[in-house]
Amino acid sequence: MAGVTLGQATITRIEETNFPCYPLRDIFPDFTDAHMAEHKSWMAPHHYDAGKGLIVLSVHSWLLQVGGKKILIDSCCGNNKIKPGRPWWNMLNINYLERLAAAGARPEEIDMVMCTHLHHDHVGWNTQQRDGKWVPTFPNARYVFNKPDIDYFSKIDADPKEGPAELGTFRECVVPILEYGKADVIEGAHRINDFIEIDTAPGHSPGHVFFKLESKGQRAAFIGDVWHHLLQVYYPDWNFPKNSDAAQARVSRRKVLDYCASSGALVMPGHVGAPFAGRIEKTAGGYRPKFDPAAVR
Ligand SMILES: [Zn+2]
Repeated sequence: MAGVTLGQATITRIEETNFPCYPLRDIFPDFTDAHMAEHKSWMAPHHYDAGKGLIVLSVHSWLLQVGGKKILIDSCCGNNKIKPGRPWWNMLNINYLERLAAAGARPEEIDMVMCTHLHHDHVGWNTQQRDGKWVPTFPNARYVFNKPDIDYFSKIDADPKEGPAELGTFRECVVPILEYGKADVIEGAHRINDFIEIDTAPGHSPGHVFFKLESKGQRAAFIGDVWHHLLQVYYPDWNFPKNSDAAQARVSRRKVLDYCASSGALVMPGHVGAPFAGRIEKTAGGYRPKFDPAAVR
């Protein structure tokens, strides 16, 4: 996607990977043939590989440039990481930093890295290995993390039976940032500057947040993993697996859907396939995604 202009802001998607991965019916066990008949036309090919029966998930960051700042939202999986159980993202070798530079930001130019939550596919490029040590990839950035996730994953990481947390990425990509004194750890709703506000959306993880952008009356919402797939817009009770609190994840999904529909915000999810961003409409019975390319402009 070329950069989108929204008021004074420009937003560019930085792709790490985008391909079919999980079986649709494993991820959403309530999905029936009737759902297929209703949704197949928009799902294939960008959200569903009909031949393989797999959902398509993108892993990407959003580069937000506003108010003279370059802000990286979520930092993907990262290269050379062993990902047990995640063959698609195991030992990646992606020219992600070149893609980021081509979009207008070399690592030293990034002012802020904001993670919607601290799962392994949202923190990967926070650090890089140099001389056997994990050091910040973005040396001049402040990293915005949320305290409930720090607490939650610290506890898992310290438990020999459960750790290391997040396939090792917590100690590789989050702990070093804390130790280097580069993190701003926030809790609850929080305003970052004139343009960006953090709001809470817990459930997928305890500290999951979403970012609201407003510039010149135009809005965007960076929602991370509040929903992974557009089917969850139609069916807000359908969780993606792996939640710290499944019931809370459903409540947060409705909260964010309601915000997006009522504000008209351009929605930037963490994993939804092409065209990757769009809007949410309220319907008589719920919500409907408008993720057609025209809606992005
Ligand atoms: Zn994710």
